[in-house]
Amino acid sequence: MRILIVNDDGVYSPGIRALAERARHFGEVRIVAPDVEQSSMGHAITHSRPLRYKKAEVGDFDAYKVNGTPADCVALGCHHWEQVDVVLSGINLGPNLGNSMWHSGTLAGAKQASLLGIRGIAFSLLSGYEAEDFERLAPHVDEVLEKVLRQYDYKLLNINFPPEPKGIMWTRQSVRQYDGAVIASEDPYKRPIYWCTVRALEPAEEGTDRHAIEEGYISITPLRLDLTHHADLESLVVKSGNATDSS
Ligand code: MN
Repeated sequence: MRILIVNDDGVYSPGIRALAERARHFGEVRIVAPDVEQSSMGHAITHSRPLRYKKAEVGDFDAYKVNGTPADCVALGCHHWEQVDVVLSGINLGPNLGNSMWHSGTLAGAKQASLLGIRGIAFSLLSGYEAEDFERLAPHVDEVLEKVLRQYDYKLLNINFPPEPKGIMWTRQSVRQYDGAVIASEDPYKRPIYWCTVRALEPAEEGTDRHAIEEGYISITPLRLDLTHHADLESLVVKSGNATDSS
């Protein structure tokens, strides 16, 4: 099995190394990741400047760094390595739950794989990010990889790990309202600066990714690329007909 590994925290993140260490027990691993952090860049692709694909030193892994986004890395990774079976993205240093899926670079790596017709799986961790945190998580990552690489059928998965997992829960995405507050501050030269936040306004509902993590479970959410609101589409067609002539 050819396993391409990407992330959005950069090729030297301890999270991508931790994922590659576990994944190598399941197949042939190659790392292709951004040269610098690209968190919260979503599914951006670079088309206004050229990209470079350079060898990177990540332990004894076959690793490359790209001066682009996670989606760029998957595109270049699959260009240089034929017949990739699965793309794993992460392990992100921080959760990607609920509304975060809209701006997550980690999930975008998995989505880009899905767009190319390859299975994509995003991994994120809500915990400390020291070596011992990843060591503690290793058996849980193994258990999840065993299931998602060898047992189940799906196209795109978003997986989040709590600090000390009690088990695995299949979940849906929590899309309750967020405040999207902008925090204003100033830099050392007294110039205004701003931080964007994504704090949830409402508690998580049962059956969702956020709820599973709050309860101490690994959350696995199967996703799809089709954003169409099928119920709205149906009611709009019923109300107004389709292919109406406006002349
Ligand atoms: Mn990140």
